[in-house]
Formats: sequence, structure tokens, C-alpha cells
Amino acid sequence: MDARSFPNPYLYQDYSKDPSTPFNSAGQLIPDFVNRVINKIKELLQLMETGLKSADPRDFTVYTGWSGIALLYLHLSEVFGDQSFLIRAQEYASKALHCLNKRDVTFLCGDAGPYAVAAVILHRLGSHKEADECISRHPSVLKLESRLPDELLYGRMGYLYTLLFINKCYNAEKVSYRCIQEVCDVVIKSGENFAAHKRMQSQSPLMYEWYGEYYVGPAHGLAGIYYFLMQPQCNVSSEKLQTLIGPSVEFVRHLRYPSGNYPACIGDNRDLLVHWCHGAPGIIYMLTQAYKIFKASAYLADAAQCAEICWQRGLLKKGYGICHGVAGNAYTFLAMYNLTHDLKYLYRACKFAEWCMDFGEHGCRTPDTPFSLFEGT
Ligand SMILES: [Zn+2]
Repeated sequence: MDARSFPNPYLYQDYSKDPSTPFNSAGQLIPDFVNRVINKIKELLQLMETGLKSADPRDFTVYTGWSGIALLYLHLSEVFGDQSFLIRAQEYASKALHCLNKRDVTFLCGDAGPYAVAAVILHRLGSHKEADECISRHPSVLKLESRLPDELLYGRMGYLYTLLFINKCYNAEKVSYRCIQEVCDVVIKSGENFAAHKRMQSQSPLMYEWYGEYYVGPAHGLAGIYYFLMQPQCNVSSEKLQTLIGPSVEFVRHLRYPSGNYPACIGDNRDLLVHWCHGAPGIIYMLTQAYKIFKASAYLADAAQCAEICWQRGLLKKGYGICHGVAGNAYTFLAMYNLTHDLKYLYRACKFAEWCMDFGEHGCRTPDTPFSLFEGT
């Protein structure tokens, strides 16, 4: 048995054999299940609010700090249409803006995320001038010779995500497409230069490193970078998609272990981690996006295999979080459901949600930041 995950108690039942699914044949959740989820959210929010009283007061990040809590409340305000959540979101967002470190440039771990989250909240509250002030604060990420990495947590892609987030939330070209494209151009150039370096001899036309390692997953590595370069809003030319991004995606695809999982780093042959940050649950988004762009059925088959690994090994002893926990792994089923509308995946997502609703009863490890957005409640 896998030492890092619990055996999946739902494995042998699955959708086809369960007479009482928590949704109807059109994929709509039944009221009973919805109420259970809502009640659990209320209960866990109280637990979180109490726990946050002893959280690190200087952690402003989306990943583990105040901006992550602000983003959660922003999301809740949209899901429930409840203005009081938006006010709570603003309180946390403004707490974050008071302790930025002016060092990192990304959405998840840097200053750009807190500014973007605050901007969207202020915009929703009608404070458009203050929102615009938050958006006007741009760090410079375009210098190729700087030591800035390209990955998602600390690098250029994490800054680029901020720009996409703002446009998505505003439902407009609040940040110009030209500005987004400039970041992508630098990331592509950086990957080409690194792949062409004579020490590297890369088989992939684009290659990236983070602290001397060639990470594969979305947090620090290749899959996250390629995923964003395939986003239509990034407007990467079809020539570059065909000659650079496509072959780079193929390179990652072929790093797959026989189990269907993926390594954390190139050359790592220990098939251990099934997390969003490292392993199949993070690679799936690159594959589903590649399927949408290139239409090759092999990408869809590989993505399905990623979801299968999550179903078998995704109930992690590390806990319930997004980055390396059960909730993050559950998103793989939603990704497959949204793409295929196969109710099997909705069923699996609901089962992982049920697991999370038994929060605290499985004897999981307590994360470093137990109430945060990416690691905690
Ligand atoms: Zn993680």
C-alpha cells in the first residue's frame, strides 16, 4: 500500500454501482448534498476564523497568508451572492497590503497577487479609483538578463497569472493583451535560451529551471509554464505553438512513469508524489489544455490517466489542502468532468468532497499553515 495515501474506500463502488449518487442525471447536485456542503463550509469558516487569530501576522500571500483568505471570501461572495463575505474579503485584503515584502512578483507568493485580489474586491465594492491604484503597481518582469525565474510560484508566469486573473474578474481587457504578450515573449525567449545552452543539450525546445532543478509540475516547473503559454489570452502565435510549445508538451508527456504518474523533477525515478504541486494532479491541466489546442486524443487519454491516479492514490495523508492535499486532487475530477461531461468524474469529485467533509477524522498530518488557502482549511 502507498505510504503517502489512504486506501480509497470508494474505489470498488464507483459511479456505475452506486444507486444513490449525490446528483441527478443532468449532473445537478441534489439539495441534500448541497446543504451538507454549505453547513460544512459554515462550520469550517468558524474553525478557520478562530485559528487565524494565531496565524503569522506578516504572511500577506495568497498561498498561505491574508490574501488567500481574502480570495476565499471573494469567491464565497460570488458563490452565495452575499455582500457580507465581500466586506470580510476587503478586511483581509487590506491587512495583506500593509505587510507586502516588495521582493517577489507573483500572484501566489509575491506582491502582485495581493494587489490584484484587493483591486477586484474594491472594484466589486464600487471603489473603482482605489482598485485602479492597486492595478497600476507593476513590478518589472521583462528584463531577460535578470535572475527572475519563469515558474508560477516565484517567477514570470506567476506575474502573468495575475494579469489574466484581473482580466477574468473584470471581464474586460483591463490589462492590455500587448502587456500579457510581452511577458509570454520573454518567458519563451528565456526557455529557448536555456534549452539551447551548450551545457543543457535539452530534448525540449523550451526548458526551465528553478534553483538548479528541472521541475515538471505546475508550481515550479514546466507544466505550469506550458499550460499558460497555451491560453488563448496569451496570444502565442500558431507557429510558436506548433514548433515550440507542442514539442515541449510532448517532452513532458514522455516523462510519465509506467503507473501514469509524473516525476517531480526530470531524472527523479521515485514514483511517490500525487499532489497538485508535484505529480499527475498538476500535469493534468497542461494535458487538457493541450487537448483543447492541438485536438490530439492522446492528450485526453493521458489526462484521464492523471485523474485515475488521483482516484487511486489521491486521498493524501498530508491533509485536505489544495497544493498537496485531497481538495487539490479533487479538482482533477472537475477538470475531466468539465471537459468530457462524464458523470463518473462528477461522482469522484463528490466522493473526495465527502472525504473533506469528514475533516479532521482521518488522522492526517497538520500542515505548516493549517488555515491557509493553499495548505489548510
Ligand atoms: Zn504542494
